[in-house]
Amino acid sequence: MKCALCGSEGLFEIVSHSDAKSSEPLLIAMCRHCGLVQQSPTPTADTLRIYYSHNYRKDYKKTYTPKSKHVYRAGKTALQRLDFLNRCGIVNGTLLDVGAGGGEFVYLSGRAGFQAEGIEPNIGYSQYAKSAYGCHVITGELDGVSQLYDTITLFHVLEHLPSPIEAFEKLHSLLKQGGKLLVEVPWIEAQDASPHNIYFKAHIFYFSADTLSACASQFFNVLHIDTSSNLKILFSAKSKPSPITLPESRSVARTRKRLRSKGWLEYLFQGGACIKPVKKLIRAVEESKMDGAKPKDILDGLVEERQGH
Ligand SMILES: [Zn+2]
Repeated sequence: MKCALCGSEGLFEIVSHSDAKSSEPLLIAMCRHCGLVQQSPTPTADTLRIYYSHNYRKDYKKTYTPKSKHVYRAGKTALQRLDFLNRCGIVNGTLLDVGAGGGEFVYLSGRAGFQAEGIEPNIGYSQYAKSAYGCHVITGELDGVSQLYDTITLFHVLEHLPSPIEAFEKLHSLLKQGGKLLVEVPWIEAQDASPHNIYFKAHIFYFSADTLSACASQFFNVLHIDTSSNLKILFSAKSKPSPITLPESRSVARTRKRLRSKGWLEYLFQGGACIKPVKKLIRAVEESKMDGAKPKDILDGLVEERQGH
């Protein structure tokens, strides 16, 4: 196997042997040269395409239409992501959300002043986004996009794609001069992820801020890094591609050390697992108020609540 970031062969250290959800065998390895954690072997683009267009949502969400509580949760998360963009000075312009899911972010960013569109490979979800919110969400993949945008967002998409470097190249080609790219992925250094829920088949890559920045380095400069909830990096498109910048050996050593210290003890005592049941209960009460509400009303309600109505 060849590393998807640095191209090294045979320099891997196994970090996990099984899928956290199904317990089926699944090899996850860290490249000793650059620190990128990746599935071994990496699934092919064709296998992934078939998997995502038909099975993914069904496998992990069990339905094609989100429940009220999921809309409410997705809406709250979408507003936090918009806050991050706004704090970085991005408040309007054309925006493409790649992997738009149920369309909550596209709808809310449209309400907030962006000319927002989405692209989503799953037919059920893209149709839902159109019918529930009237959003412009195209059914398809990144390959089918040709228009240029001011801002592109990818929330929990990059870790599913067969080649992060190719994805960054494609994304660069879809941005206007100096355009911005916001990528959010699960953070491999997070302390609040249950050890039962870290490595699984749908995630091909597992990023640190350094490996994600390195994957983007030919085409993008890093503007802001945020690890308060997952790993978010705001990138700015380079005017022309430059040679790749790999993480320093210090960074690789640190990732290795972090992965070794992950486990139940850390999760329980530093990751806040002890208070999770209480948090869950509070959330369930809050979400039960949404039962039966229309998805658009739920999202509008969240915006109005913030505006103090
Ligand atoms: Zn590597």
